[in-house]
Amino acid sequence: MPPDTPLTQPLVQVAVPSPLYGVFDYLPPPGQPLPARGSRVRVPFGRQHLVGVVMALAPRSEMPAHRLKHIEAVLDGEALLGPPLLGLLEWAAGYYQHPLGEVISTALPTLLRQGEAAQVQGITRWRAAVDEVPEEMMRRAPRQAALLHDLIAQPGGLDAQQLNDAHANWRAPMGALVDKALAAKAESPCLQGIPVDPDTVRSVSLNPAQAAAAKAVISAPDGFAPFLLEGVTGSGKTEVYLSIIEDVVAAGRQALVLVPEIGLTPQLLTRFQARFERPIAVLHSGLTDRERLCAWLSARSGEAPIVIGTRSAVFTPLANPGVILVDEEHDLSFKQQDGLRYHARDLAVMRARRENVPVVLGSATPALESINNARKGGYRHISLPERAGVASHPEVSLLDVRRRPMTEGMSDILIEQIHRHLDADGQVLLFLNRRGYAPVLQCHDCGWAADCPRCDAHMTYHARRRQLVCHHCGVQMGAPDQCPGCGSAQVHPLGQGTERIETALQTLFPEVEISRIDRDTTRRKGAIEAKLEGARSGQHRILVGTQMLAKGHDFPGVTLVGILDIDQGLLSADFRATERMAQLITQVAGRAGRAERPGHVLIQTRQPDHPLLLTLIHEGYRGFCRQALEEREAACLPPFSYQALIRAESPQADHPLAFLGEARELFQQAGSTVQVLGPVPAPMERLAGRYRAQLLLQAETRAPLHQLLSRHVQALASLPHARRVRWSLDVDPMELF
Ligand code: ADP
Ligand code: ZN
Ligand code: ZN
Repeated sequence: MPPDTPLTQPLVQVAVPSPLYGVFDYLPPPGQPLPARGSRVRVPFGRQHLVGVVMALAPRSEMPAHRLKHIEAVLDGEALLGPPLLGLLEWAAGYYQHPLGEVISTALPTLLRQGEAAQVQGITRWRAAVDEVPEEMMRRAPRQAALLHDLIAQPGGLDAQQLNDAHANWRAPMGALVDKALAAKAESPCLQGIPVDPDTVRSVSLNPAQAAAAKAVISAPDGFAPFLLEGVTGSGKTEVYLSIIEDVVAAGRQALVLVPEIGLTPQLLTRFQARFERPIAVLHSGLTDRERLCAWLSARSGEAPIVIGTRSAVFTPLANPGVILVDEEHDLSFKQQDGLRYHARDLAVMRARRENVPVVLGSATPALESINNARKGGYRHISLPERAGVASHPEVSLLDVRRRPMTEGMSDILIEQIHRHLDADGQVLLFLNRRGYAPVLQCHDCGWAADCPRCDAHMTYHARRRQLVCHHCGVQMGAPDQCPGCGSAQVHPLGQGTERIETALQTLFPEVEISRIDRDTTRRKGAIEAKLEGARSGQHRILVGTQMLAKGHDFPGVTLVGILDIDQGLLSADFRATERMAQLITQVAGRAGRAERPGHVLIQTRQPDHPLLLTLIHEGYRGFCRQALEEREAACLPPFSYQALIRAESPQADHPLAFLGEARELFQQAGSTVQVLGPVPAPMERLAGRYRAQLLLQAETRAPLHQLLSRHVQALASLPHARRVRWSLDVDPMELF
């Protein structure tokens, strides 16, 4: 049969998770109804059997008929992914130039990817029936004791996957615990409410600005409508979200809320749950596969009126969507940095368009891209310029620390201010975006410095553990007592990290309770909750930490914020560095004076005349944006141009540049107006033993860039050096390295 002869039965085009682009043709399953678009099927693929998703039916195939294979099984009786979501995924595959099958696979929970039935089931969990591990058990049955200890720590119980992860062969000791009635097995409903402390529940009535903001969204005509909600820190954006959601839920529709990192803002979930009686579906990376499937299916069925999740939750199916909200829309965590390199905020806007619903991007410090979209009239700009309730704006000043006496990175003026605020019963927050004790360990005699063996970077010294840790690749080793270069004992930590500041503060303020909040002190389960509670209650008088502190927390007692070092942000080569610095300063400063007492913010710098810094201090984030956008426009940088970055890496130093050189030729032959810049080695060329380089494509408008990409990206894989490197394409890159 020639390839173009119409077949008597239609063909099924299936997106299969594979790095190959396009869809694949299959014959329908013998003797079964045709599968619907958007449903999963199991298909033979090479020597494998894969779960794919039906994209279309087609009358004919390019493939010779004898090579066509049958679909082995249809896994969903109806479409698993509805038209708006499936359409979004197809769009994303085109926009990010990523294979469709992989895009769809990114959007599916693991269990569905593996072919599990799309049915809501309860989850079996084991819970402790006692509050303490009996003492004699620790000696006689240590495995049971360890298991019971973990169960007690987790009042909600643990499911089989969590137990598998933490304990080998847990079933026998668990059986023993259940027999002794120390633990119990229970089937819990798929969706569980988030525990809420009734003391934290309080209702507020919206102030006029909040009410106007909520009304703008609620009363928008039916259909797609994008909003930028710019509300200064403490202006009560969350109350606005809650009010919008109340309206949406009352109308029987669903709200999808995207947040940066759920683990860092446990307060947010309880605030939502306190307001709504029905369970909330929460999607984040800490879920077990079964919990994730459950949340996903509850969103899809409409059973969950509210769905809150991180980045990938933008792909959650919704039976009856009413609004999409993106909180802290400027946050970098919305950008996926490997595989399908999507931006969840941008996809949220595109999703809202396809679902025909309003979308609200909220932030105290919107991304310059979003501000620019609002200026051009693409987004409706709503502002909350004042703090809610009784709080007033904090007073911000620059502290020129050149030639000032410094104690471990803190100037005499700052230390004096800390004393003053503590004496007046205030709380103090100190921000330094560098964890560890010191960023370098150096020999005073010969100049040797501890470098990472696998990266072009110094290793960070962690004093308490007496270890050197590379913050780029994670390599760890014991810190030497003697210089490996000259044998001298004069090896000293240089510069400060949060651990060193904490130690210095303990010496300066021995009678004060100090809490350090960074990734090193919050690794343990429950640690971040305890730290945030200590900060909120005022028990911890001095808080010192990294950008974890900047994430929207409400610390009502903080009256002084000290920003120890911002000069790095001003010196960085990345054109987005100043924007990030301004966002961080504004967000950290926003932790001060959130209650009755006014807040003060002191920013230490050695560049007190930096124009962007001065604008930020005197005119606020708004003024900063105006000036930064002018500079971006003059330099023809995003959002006034469009970029795509091709990265390549290899253990061999020359291969990435060779591959990107070939790529450059490929793009240049196309004779497009797109600028091809590079290739150049990455600013930090070697990471984890691999050499990295990049090629930048930039255009004044989006169309030619996308034309160029869609014509040539698939050919990159056949370039002579393609097999010698690992390469990736990043459309709208957020980081240029
Ligand atoms: P944002 O997210 O904009 O920083 P939040 O929504 O967290 O602000 O609100 C900041 C603080 O102000 C919270 O403690 C909140 O309870 C309080 N708040 C918000 N709206 C009001 C209001 N209308 N009246 C009184 N207090 C409010
Ligand atoms: Zn030495
Ligand atoms: Zn390293």
